[in-house]
Amino acid sequence: MTIRTAELLSIGTELTVGETRDTNSGDLARELPGRGVIVRRIVALPDDVDVLREAFTAATERSDLVVSTGGLGPTPDDLTREAIAAMLGERPSVDPGLERWLRGLFERRRIPFPEANRKQAWLIPSAEAIPNSNGTAPGWLVRTPGGSVIVALPGPPREMIPMWRDHVLPALEAKGLGAAATVRILRLAGIGESVVAARLGSLLDPAARPAVATYARAEGVDVRISAVHDGDDATGDPEALVGDVERRILELLGEHVWARGRTTWGEALAVALERRAWRLAVVEIGLRGALGTLLGEGLGERLLEDDALADPAARRGASVASLAAERRRATGADVGLAAAVRARGDDTAVSVAVDGPIGTRSERRVVFMGGPIGRGRAAIAAADVLLAYLEGRPAGKRTAHGRSRPATVSRT
Ligand code: AMP
Ligand code: MG
Repeated sequence: MTIRTAELLSIGTELTVGETRDTNSGDLARELPGRGVIVRRIVALPDDVDVLREAFTAATERSDLVVSTGGLGPTPDDLTREAIAAMLGERPSVDPGLERWLRGLFERRRIPFPEANRKQAWLIPSAEAIPNSNGTAPGWLVRTPGGSVIVALPGPPREMIPMWRDHVLPALEAKGLGAAATVRILRLAGIGESVVAARLGSLLDPAARPAVATYARAEGVDVRISAVHDGDDATGDPEALVGDVERRILELLGEHVWARGRTTWGEALAVALERRAWRLAVVEIGLRGALGTLLGEGLGERLLEDDALADPAARRGASVASLAAERRRATGADVGLAAAVRARGDDTAVSVAVDGPIGTRSERRVVFMGGPIGRGRAAIAAADVLLAYLEGRPAGKRTAHGRSRPATVSRT
């Protein structure tokens, strides 16, 4: 049997009262489509054994795989095991091996073993334990009589994620998880999602193969092209289909593509700086650190200095080009990047300049929205100008969407 469909259950009243944000289901959901498994629903549920039993019953009737997180703690409100046992009509009993392991954890820390923790050593006949190297709650891997698989994992992400990666995925792959899938993601900047959608036209047709989808993200618009290798070769080899569609999309939108996959702006710029063996100094004015936040982590040692001046008046009338050059000289960096914003109606005007060994480039853009959202988009515009400079792409290439003014370039 192959696992082709999945549902995710996030368990705990802390989720349904909004005290804890559910990050687990999103983290698990993004593991599955690339493996050819369709996630049909994601549900958050309170600590109520009847609600949980009904949810497990319904989900296993609909889907091949049900992954739950949470409710494996030692306290009376942790009821995931009870709910699965009730659904299958099986009685939990303490597994001697698990109990020994669990007691050992407490002995190691010289803490008396709390009887409440004994239920973390429970198993039912249909369940096998999933080891937990970072906590006291082993998971359960259950095969239901109907042939579905239940994976019950603990709630804390630092326990759940290693268990998923090290034990659950290999076990599911051995059972036949999904199918291979070809997935390519193109990351776009300087263009809105609706314009991307208009240019893609019928490629976005929900029935089209390969599937093409757009996602508006903080870092820009992603275009995702995917096809599952499901043995249905009537429509052609998935790898080739994805390649063909990718080429067509690059013809339509290629000038906006700044990265692929899950590359961040910091990583893309770090690679480009590395290639030139250059180091960068940044001055941002009125962005309140938005540029440093966007780039800092990813740039690593390629970033020499990031100076964030809160007050636009700090420019004292200097052009961003002269600020970039000044910062480059003052720090000994190879490249200087300066960005300054000011409100323009409800939107944000951003002036960007790059000064470096291949000349100076300045560009002005207006980004949609003001406040922190506008500053975040202004930071992306600055990163985009810098990346084009580092990659030696012609300036002004990004004017097609009508939101940026022609760039000025001067050679030094
Ligand atoms: P539990 O396994 O129910 O005892 O969960 C213990 C802890 O894991 C909770 O107090 C949360 O901090 C965390 N947690 C549980 N569920 C989630 C979730 N869906 N997303 C993120 N954190 C979670
Ligand atoms: Mg809980």
